[in-house]
This record gives sequence, structure tokens and C-alpha cells, in this order.
Amino acid sequence: MVDLCSCNKTFDLKVEGDIAADAIWCNRCYSNFCIEEVPISIKLKMELTEWISNYGKWIDWENEGIIPNGVALEEKHNIEGLKLTEKVQKELEGKYKVSFSPSTFAKRNANN
Ligand SMILES: [Zn+2]
Repeated sequence: MVDLCSCNKTFDLKVEGDIAADAIWCNRCYSNFCIEEVPISIKLKMELTEWISNYGKWIDWENEGIIPNGVALEEKHNIEGLKLTEKVQKELEGKYKVSFSPSTFAKRNANN
């Protein structure tokens, strides 16, 4: 997995939600890792996959804004993301540094 990003070798990862992406990224070059390649447990992979499939439920695509209650939905997603990041940190302890990058889309678009 560490060979798959443009840094050649990275030990600096982040968990971040995005549309049609996997949950683990290189924190330096922003390469998106295939979740299958990440050396974590299958259970945690499944949890991350489910988490990221719920990303953006707060986006109103037609109006390019957010749905009512979208800020709260995004916040809940961020809380779950942080919990999952802690699990990833535990499984990769001593091998990779893992940080969490919360989504701010709803917050930024809340007043539109
Ligand atoms: Zn990289």
C-alpha cells in the first residue's frame, strides 16, 4: 500500500470522507488508497466503507446546497469518522500516523 502514492513511501495517513472515494488517504500527496490495500482488519474496512457510503447525505445536489438538518447530519458523520479514525490509529499504531479530516461542506454552505 505504501508504494501506491506519489510519495513513494508514506507513514502519514488521514481518514476523510468524499464522494466515490475510499476512506484512507495519504496526508502528504492526497492519494486515495484502495481500502482493500490498507493493512487493517476486515471488520474495520467494512465499517469505513459503510461510513464513507453515507458521506454527503446532507448535500442537496439539485440546489447545490444542503438539505434541512444537513449541518447536524454532517456533524454526526464527523463524530463517527473520528471514532473510526481512533480504531484505525489503534490497528496501525507504531506503523502509521493517522489523522482525521472532518467534512465542513454543510457548515460552509449553511447560510446559502
Ligand atoms: Zn503520498
